[in-house]
Amino acid sequence: MTATRTPACLYVVATPIGNPDDWSPRARQVLAEVSAIACEDTRHSGRLLQYFNIDNTLLAYHDHNERERTPELISRLQAGQSLALISDAGTPLVSDPGFRLVAAAQAAGISVVPVPGSCAAIAALSVAGLPSDRFMFEGFLPAKSSQRRQALQALAAETRTLIFYESPHRIVDSLADMAQVFGAGRTATFCRELTKTFETVRSAPLAALAEWVAIDPNQQKGEIVLVVAGQREAAEQPELAEQLLRRLLIELPVKQAAQIVADVFHLKKNALYEQAIRIQQADTPPD
Ligand code: SAM
Repeated sequence: MTATRTPACLYVVATPIGNPDDWSPRARQVLAEVSAIACEDTRHSGRLLQYFNIDNTLLAYHDHNERERTPELISRLQAGQSLALISDAGTPLVSDPGFRLVAAAQAAGISVVPVPGSCAAIAALSVAGLPSDRFMFEGFLPAKSSQRRQALQALAAETRTLIFYESPHRIVDSLADMAQVFGAGRTATFCRELTKTFETVRSAPLAALAEWVAIDPNQQKGEIVLVVAGQREAAEQPELAEQLLRRLLIELPVKQAAQIVADVFHLKKNALYEQAIRIQQADTPPD
């Protein structure tokens, strides 16, 4: 098998998210053959390479130096050196550095080659048991509670399945906020330490999940992905929202009626406002 090609190219290589046996032979061969490997943390990736007996040069490429380091890596590629980009775990660029390097390589006419593998978001989605034909990856929510709630509010009417990465220090607060903003009964799947010894996957309504995690300190450790069902009632039963809107319009001004239905069904207020105007116009007898 020939892993590398000429002329030089940039390989974007996924690494395991826990279990080393998930790593493909192709990924390992590419890392053994390239001229150097750009990685987030040279000590962390050094241990992974050592475990697999891969001896290669590691170049630090992380959030704090990617702007300065990119031109140097592009010069190496232009000089004919193939390089690999990896991150601490999983797929580079997914809540990880790398898009600047990939964009710069593309702009310089250098081939960028994916060597796919583990990704925590996709692993979690694959076991969540939630609709997966469409989904939204939201990465990490803001650390501050007020900003986090605002971000969640903006997603409350989203009908696609939502995927979040979360830190163990914030998991209790985030689940409580989700239960409050998305509704206590909305289904979610908590995925912790995927592919590792303490792998945990649990699906439950958000309020029950929040309570279970809050009372068990073991669930507040390690690496966590949350997969949350999209808002479905309104999407599946638009007639319920319309019924309420029609009823409220008998008693209330359009703006107020639209706001209430938007709050109850987590729908967009502007769309409901327009729907309410259409209902009123259709119901008003001509002069
Ligand atoms: N690029 C990585 C990927 O493809 O999944 C993600 C990097 S992001 C900086 C790290 C976050 O991914 C963790 O905080 C956690 O939310 C999630 N994660 C990574 N490994 C995980 C695992 N084994 N189990 C659950 N979540 C994991």
